Amino acid sequence: MHEDFRAALGDIPVIDDEVGIKRKSRDFFWYSPILFEQLRDKTAELVVCPRDEKDVIMVASACARFGVPLTPRGGGTGNYGQSMPFEGGIVLDMMGLDRLQWVKDGLARVQAGKLLYDLDQELWAQGKELRMFPSTKKTATIGGHICGGAGGLGSLTWGFLDDRGNVVGARIVTLEEEPRIIELRGNDTDLINRSFGTTGIVVELELPVENRTHWRDMIVAFDDFISAVRFAQEFTASPGIGKHACAVVDSTITPYFVHFAKVIPEGKPIVLLMVAPSGVIPTAEIAAGHGGTIVYEEDMAEGESNPAKEPVYEYCWNHTTLQVLKHDRSVTYIQTVFPSETMYRDIEVLRELFGDEVLWHLEFIRAGSDIACTGASVVRYTTADRLEEVMALHEKQGVTVVNPHVSNLEDGARDVVSYRDRAEFKLGIDPYGLLNPGKMRDYTPAKIRRAG
Ligand SMILES: Cc1cc2nc3c(=O)[nH]c(=O)nc-3n(C[C@H](O)[C@H](O)[C@H](O)COP(=O)(O)OP(=O)(O)OC[C@H]3O[C@@H](n4cnc5c(N)ncnc54)[C@H](O)[C@@H]3O)c2cc1C
Repeated sequence: MHEDFRAALGDIPVIDDEVGIKRKSRDFFWYSPILFEQLRDKTAELVVCPRDEKDVIMVASACARFGVPLTPRGGGTGNYGQSMPFEGGIVLDMMGLDRLQWVKDGLARVQAGKLLYDLDQELWAQGKELRMFPSTKKTATIGGHICGGAGGLGSLTWGFLDDRGNVVGARIVTLEEEPRIIELRGNDTDLINRSFGTTGIVVELELPVENRTHWRDMIVAFDDFISAVRFAQEFTASPGIGKHACAVVDSTITPYFVHFAKVIPEGKPIVLLMVAPSGVIPTAEIAAGHGGTIVYEEDMAEGESNPAKEPVYEYCWNHTTLQVLKHDRSVTYIQTVFPSETMYRDIEVLRELFGDEVLWHLEFIRAGSDIACTGASVVRYTTADRLEEVMALHEKQGVTVVNPHVSNLEDGARDVVSYRDRAEFKLGIDPYGLLNPGKMRDYTPAKIRRAG
């Protein structure tokens, strides 16, 4: 790394030992055997750890002047190599920016590097909570969630992160010789939402918060998979029940849920739930109607803070796959969305078609005025060609696949148009194309400057 560049960083803390750099150059890209082969050697030359916005501006200016690529990083729990430096340069570790600035009128203003777990603890002290959080709540940051995530616990009520109203404001630093601060409000926050840090270094976020609910973790066991899905559909469509999560997990996956081995009956599919206390009785009534038995109930806060316990959310979303990977590194996963009209038929056809090759995991979420059934099924991996075929066969059945085995925004995109808007915005705030290069496939920088 050029000495003048290092000097331009002044006294900002850095990590420059090989092991430390490698550790901060990786995320959960290895979930995908395809990305593992493509990205395993990617590493930064230096990790820079700003303490405040002033430091971020200094680093951004130095990168623009010396042509050094900059990859922002929160907790590094992203899945698609999102926070990995494809072209070397520096990783900008944002975790030093960790202050909750204020909470008022149903909104919170927070620095981007704050851990979600810590943020919720501080909000709880004021009787509030986040609308949604990823299952990586204990290790991920709020900035990483907005810039890299999609949704999570809470999406059953509030939809995806990029649904209007879920992010109210964002303050970003541009990557120019003289960095600018830009305040994005309302719909303009789409420019940084799930943009993998390609459209500005986010230093602060403004988000809606809700009055705290003491969520109850529940596990319900069923005799067969379709009964579990039918319960999930009735439960998620019941407007009187406050709910945060509903995941259907097949009996092929539950043996990997070692922590809950004593409560989950052998051979039974389950539904994992987070329910408001007032919803526990009606949930039990709906479960009984589908032959379900409640086998576990606990306060979520107790589950996440007591070291002898585990919260149900660490078995939902991408954690379902992680629980399997802890015991069997030969599996991977696919992400799907089922059309509601043909959902049951599609599930039955595909279960028959794939047999033991696909281990079923469904998540229910709010999509506009509907509840959508999405899949994050575990797949026994053999070859890249077969994995492509498994995804293609889902598509042939009419099921949408969101490919988690690609590392750029466009190939994983649900909404290509907004990516074009982002590329246009990026021309102004990252003219040299130094912000997380390689993640926006179709971006052509306005100017050329490379480290030399
Ligand atoms: C086991 C497991 C479970 C998961 N569950 C969920 C889930 O429930 N829901 C979900 O949405 N995701 C989930 N994910 C993905 C990921 O954990 C989340 O999206 C998480 O919120 C990312 O936060 P992070 O701080 O780790 O971000 P990182 O991985 O560090 O970064 C993610 C992206 O954001 C960019 N970025 C980070 N901070 C900034 C910043 N301040 N400014 C600009 N860009 C920035 C990075 O460059 C990167 O592109 C899961 C992943 C794993 C491995």
